[in-house]
Amino acid sequence: LNPSITPAPANAPAPANATAAAEILRVSHVRRGFAKPQGELLVLDDANLTLKDGEIVGLLGRSGSGKSTLLRIIAGLIRPTGGEVDYLGKPLTGPAEGVAMVFQTFALFPWLTVLQNVEAGLEALGVGPRERRERALKAIDLIGLDGFENAYPRELSGGMRQRVGFARALVVDPTLLLMDEPFSALDVLTAETLRTDLLDLWNERKLPIKSVLIVTHNIEEAVFMCDRIMVLSSNPGRVIAEIKVPFAHPRNRLDPAFRQLVD
Ligand code: ADP
Ligand code: MG
Repeated sequence: LNPSITPAPANAPAPANATAAAEILRVSHVRRGFAKPQGELLVLDDANLTLKDGEIVGLLGRSGSGKSTLLRIIAGLIRPTGGEVDYLGKPLTGPAEGVAMVFQTFALFPWLTVLQNVEAGLEALGVGPRERRERALKAIDLIGLDGFENAYPRELSGGMRQRVGFARALVVDPTLLLMDEPFSALDVLTAETLRTDLLDLWNERKLPIKSVLIVTHNIEEAVFMCDRIMVLSSNPGRVIAEIKVPFAHPRNRLDPAFRQLVD
């Protein structure tokens, strides 16, 4: 069927898939250096990237190329020395509501229980105790941690600890999820399970997340999870390549019913 022979009526609205996806994040000409004994080390020089609604984007690069620095800038944890970061069309000036981050080594508070760790994600937002508890329990349930609410991180396996890291990020109902090598501290099977669980939540639209930026050293993981992959150069960091993953991986993009056939 040739669509050109059936022109749309003049006043018809554009079909949904023809409108450009909303821009969630735009990183423009971002620069960041760190003071070192031997002078300033320029880590990011003119880093540029955009994330659109519905996208999972990978960020690859050698150790020291500035991936974590770029993620911290987007999370509002550190400031760029140049350039601009726009989140939902507005310049970012610090930690923004709706931007959550998952860390490689989990970054849990060892003296707090699972529930308290997850609630801590909401404290900075000024959410009251009752709502904090309610939302934390929901996030814990969603990520498969029910029954472990009162455990301490030291009592959990690495995979379960990272689930706490995910719950603490998801509890804020993020629009943008940043992940800094979230699976690299886990053994391969645990990593696979957690990746698949996360993609299931994403595919089943159980998360309010509109876009994910994931730093990884694992090219297979990037191809498996991402729609696009950005490559950050070293010395100094700028995005040097953008790779469109040329196919939708069956386990990544099929609806849950079909997933069962694939598994
Ligand atoms: P990647 O995550 O790609 O491995 P990072 O962003 O962690 O790279 O680090 C890039 C470079 O910036 C490294 O050389 C690191 O030593 C330096 N760096 C990162 N954070 C700081 C900091 N807070 N103070 C000084 N140097 C830093
Ligand atoms: Mg890093």
